[in-house]
Amino acid sequence: MPSVLSTFSNDTICAIATAMSDAGIGIIRVSGPQALSICDTVYLSSKKEHTLLSHEPNTIKFGYICDGDEIIDEIMISYMKAPHSYTMEDVIEINSHGGMLVMNRILNLLLDKGCRLAEPGEFTKRAFLNGRIDLTKAEAVMDIISAQNNFAFESSKGQLQGKLSSKIRSLREKILYEMAFIESALDDPENYDLTGYPDKLKAIVDPMKKEIASLIETADEGKIRKEGIKTVIVGKPNAGKSSLLNALTGDERAIVTDIAGTTRDVIEETVRLGDIVLHVIDTAGIRDTEDIIEKIGVDKAKSKIEEADLILYILDSTNEIDSEDKDIIELCKSKKTIVLLNKNDLSDNIKITEDIIRMHFSDSSNDHLPIIRTSMLKGNGISELKDAISELFFNGYIVPKQEIYITNVRHKDLLNKAFNSLELVLDSISKNLSEDFYTVDLTGAYEALGEILGEEIGDDLVEEIFSKFCMGK
Ligand code: GDP
Repeated sequence: MPSVLSTFSNDTICAIATAMSDAGIGIIRVSGPQALSICDTVYLSSKKEHTLLSHEPNTIKFGYICDGDEIIDEIMISYMKAPHSYTMEDVIEINSHGGMLVMNRILNLLLDKGCRLAEPGEFTKRAFLNGRIDLTKAEAVMDIISAQNNFAFESSKGQLQGKLSSKIRSLREKILYEMAFIESALDDPENYDLTGYPDKLKAIVDPMKKEIASLIETADEGKIRKEGIKTVIVGKPNAGKSSLLNALTGDERAIVTDIAGTTRDVIEETVRLGDIVLHVIDTAGIRDTEDIIEKIGVDKAKSKIEEADLILYILDSTNEIDSEDKDIIELCKSKKTIVLLNKNDLSDNIKITEDIIRMHFSDSSNDHLPIIRTSMLKGNGISELKDAISELFFNGYIVPKQEIYITNVRHKDLLNKAFNSLELVLDSISKNLSEDFYTVDLTGAYEALGEILGEEIGDDLVEEIFSKFCMGK
């Protein structure tokens, strides 16, 4: 448990919880023991009286925020009494007009009256430290706010509802039971018999290990579904890279010309193909060049290929494969690649076939290299490309098929740790080691799973996790 957990904060924090832009409504949030008394000094009811202290919890009232005699804004004010609030502390929310100036005036007034400006994520941190939510749920709050696609939203919503926590908790309960049983048996051998126990423990640990392994297996797909696929478009100049990017983004972001080497630098775009998100990078045509500006682009292209999850290799199929293509193929061989044979509309002139491509890729790690005939001019091949991506990354399931996906690297690392500890338990069983050995590794697994929930976690890690939150949350 974090040591800070033991004490409720005695200072009162405030922050603007809505976006810092001109909007209809803005919310200034206040949390802490003095929330009510501080807000009372600046709130006037519709009858121009300071009545906040008699405000019924869980109600919202109309009134004014005033600085002395000056009315700053007409507002609605709500009061959630501890412990029935987001932070489990007294929380006041002031719904003012959404302008930056007015929100800042109210915020500064509250700071003058004794509030402290909240750190990023501090409201949620208090909800966690005060025991209302566990760490997976706190992390889910941040993920919901930053969700960029439906998958990210749905999976973080499930996490906030406790789907991951309850799975982790049930694993921990089973482990704890066994730890307690071993300890009791070692302390009180007359009443607890350990005969045959290793087999029984193995039968419990085996399925737990499998359960953790299947969670870990969702992580790569979960990350890619959540964050998108880092995609690099490569190909020789004039193959149709910019046309492909434009077909994907639906605008004229990349300049399309028929002069070789026009795409000088790296262009990045986020593309949504239904539920698939691609972070597409269009690179300068990869080829040996003397042109210095273009050379920088070529070098960048090579480094981007190394970071990519997916390469879209586009060729002008009316030209034969030459040594430059062979160089590109070498770069693609160790990466998930989809080959696009472009300019398929020039059907009388096609020089590159699927067989030729397969021959050149024969020694690559791409077992089932997808090859798609496209015509960027006619807009053909994009839906086949989408199907190929879905097949390559999601086994064809564009709609997620798992109930829980691990989308957080911290969770994945800790699940791996728990998995390894359980493996050591099985190892000790197979080597007929004494029960003490089981306890050590069961404890390791128990603690690693506890860290996911935030129950076995240091203050600095808590700080680090919440510092990534946005202001006012
Ligand atoms: P990049 O240099 O690889 O980015 O290639 P561009 O997208 O700029 O395209 C180079 C030239 O090929 C342009 O004149 C495009 O209009 C043309 N082009 C691109 N795709 C096709 C296609 O499928 N069919 C035909 N006939 N021309 C295409």
